[in-house]
Amino acid sequence: MDPDRVLEGLDPEQCDAARALRGPVCILAGAGTGKTRAITHRIAYAVASGVVTEQQILAVTFTTRAAGEMRGRLRGLGAPRVQARTFHSAALRQLSFFWPQVIGGPEPTLISSKIQVVARAAHSCALQLDRTGLRDIASEIEWAKVTQVRPTDYEKATAKAGRAAPMPAHDVARVYEAYEELRRERNLLDFESILELTAAMLTEHPAIAQRVRDQYRYFVVDEFQDVNPLQKLLLDAWLGDRDDLCVVGDPSQTIYSFAGATPSYLTRFSAGYPNATVVQLVRDYRSTPQVVRVANGVLRHARGPAADHRLELAAQRPDGPDPTYTEYDDEPAEATSVARKIAALIDSGTPAREIAVLFRTNSQSAAYEQALSDAGIPFSVRGATRFFERPEIKQAVHTLRGARHGAEQEPLVTTVRHILAPLGLTEVPPEGREARERWESLAALAQLAEDVAAERPGAAMEDFAAELEARVATEHAPEFEGITLASLHSAKGLEWDAVFLVGLTEGMLPIIYAESAEQIEEERRLCYVGVTRAREYLALSWALARSPGGRKSRKPSRFLDGLRPASPALAGERAGRRRQAAVVQCRVCGTTLTEAAERKLARCLDCPVDYDEELLERLKAWRRESAREQKVPPYVIFTDSTLQALAEHVPTSEAQLSRISGVGAVKLERYGEAVLALCAGKEPGSGGAEGQRDE
Ligand code: ATP
Ligand code: MG
Repeated sequence: MDPDRVLEGLDPEQCDAARALRGPVCILAGAGTGKTRAITHRIAYAVASGVVTEQQILAVTFTTRAAGEMRGRLRGLGAPRVQARTFHSAALRQLSFFWPQVIGGPEPTLISSKIQVVARAAHSCALQLDRTGLRDIASEIEWAKVTQVRPTDYEKATAKAGRAAPMPAHDVARVYEAYEELRRERNLLDFESILELTAAMLTEHPAIAQRVRDQYRYFVVDEFQDVNPLQKLLLDAWLGDRDDLCVVGDPSQTIYSFAGATPSYLTRFSAGYPNATVVQLVRDYRSTPQVVRVANGVLRHARGPAADHRLELAAQRPDGPDPTYTEYDDEPAEATSVARKIAALIDSGTPAREIAVLFRTNSQSAAYEQALSDAGIPFSVRGATRFFERPEIKQAVHTLRGARHGAEQEPLVTTVRHILAPLGLTEVPPEGREARERWESLAALAQLAEDVAAERPGAAMEDFAAELEARVATEHAPEFEGITLASLHSAKGLEWDAVFLVGLTEGMLPIIYAESAEQIEEERRLCYVGVTRAREYLALSWALARSPGGRKSRKPSRFLDGLRPASPALAGERAGRRRQAAVVQCRVCGTTLTEAAERKLARCLDCPVDYDEELLERLKAWRRESAREQKVPPYVIFTDSTLQALAEHVPTSEAQLSRISGVGAVKLERYGEAVLALCAGKEPGSGGAEGQRDE
């Protein structure tokens, strides 16, 4: 491709960044200013002008999805062979390749969750911990490992960092030490060890470092504001003493400092590389002036180091609708209304895949899953099953590949639909959750065929099969033709025409456990990330009570102060209110809770409980575990309302179980035994049908 053509469509500052082909480059810019666009064009420009070959470039992004998107854009710019990966996947590849040579012996087993090993470690330290306790310790171990804190230094480090330890730091340190011992003994690799070992391999084995550095000579890192010390260590090991490094980020979008990331590598980049080209972008190409005003407003009162680097965004797009601020009586009312508004948007021509509902915690998803199902609107939950690993997709891809030389006279889309029909792609989506999910996956493949045909008119089956192969190889799942439900954390870097930011109450955003000023600031940045995902339509909402009829004691998020139209009633109430940390309400009657014990239970001690709470907790824990094992989102196993119904009715036979709403024949077969065991107060035995993998 002609190098200059690659630069078309970039503004002068973006061009500066793209043209700075050698040496260190730092792009510091706000949301939607074209950072990701600038770096993909810069990569394509470097390739087109012969400065570096595609194979010598390593582009690192934050999530598998972002990596997939980057590969897609690079393919479009004529650089399909550039490696765009997460730190983790790039490291894993190198480590597996050199493992026999460096370490030898049996290949280690990768673990994606620490819980089981942490549980054994805690046991060996004679500590009795419930699931929450184990999870808390696992997060602490992760934090310690990414910030390079050893077990012996943990106590001091956690105090210094001002972390609210979930239990005595001394105990965490003991479990951490036992965890690492067990892990090594059993030849297990967690996420952090993969990065750590790769970095160590490069530092300690010059010959290997030489080979890896010969291969990769040109580095680009997106979302650099959320890099942690361990990732930085690995990046430095990759670089050696070279400096062809381009980093891109927005300090105001730092949202992983709770997990050990720090924006200072970005904000202090020129201190490390005095010769760096630094480019700032302020023109916001993503959002309308109306949305940009809200974004700037959310950051107006930002404090702390990240805020020192804040840039006021300048809107570039034409006017759009005013963002809406809506208060609801309760959460179901909020969810139902949002679903209704989404249906109206779809009716008026907004494609479903251009709409997202964003929330602070994954648990908020259930109400929206329910309301959207009720309204017949397809949706997917981000961070769910890997698309190309779903059985129906594996089968479909296999069949489609086999048919690559098939009927050429039909248009591509028709052929693909014919092939997928016998696998379950009916005209009308079927009833039933499982069948529906299968259908949605197949429909996404058909959509991909439509995209390919639109991009390349006259595309044949062979082109489609090639596209599929490229995607299977790179795990780049097609856009799903439904609306997106996502947490604010997983929405970073992405954009939609219409965004619904829901559940904006004190206690949710900022989240109840954000107490220190820094933690509150991180919550503010999350709010900023959420707002800046919207291109045109932005709806902000909150509910005053959790359930219908509950006491309406919640307050809208402080981040909306000065932005939402002040209602006299609300304003009066605000004036008379003392500042309070966060609000927890009784989930039965909605009263605001003040006693610690009640806050933990999330209900008044004397409010009636109409289900077996302990059973519900055990069902949830089992669901979490099974979901993790099967690599599916928990709601695919059972929704919250089904678990709730199980805890209410406590079925004792298959017949009773099958009468619970949400338990169909497939679920009965797959999970019946485990659920009945749990209901009978026993351990679920072998878990789901897939069985438990022993790690
Ligand atoms: P974030 O901080 O959210 O990651 P970003 O800075 O990476 O955002 P991009 O995703 O690269 O921003 O770009 C935002 C949107 O603006 C995209 O739709 C992109 O295509 C568009 N855009 C970026 N630069 C330009 C430009 N020069 N002209 C027109 N559109 C542009
Ligand atoms: Mg980006």
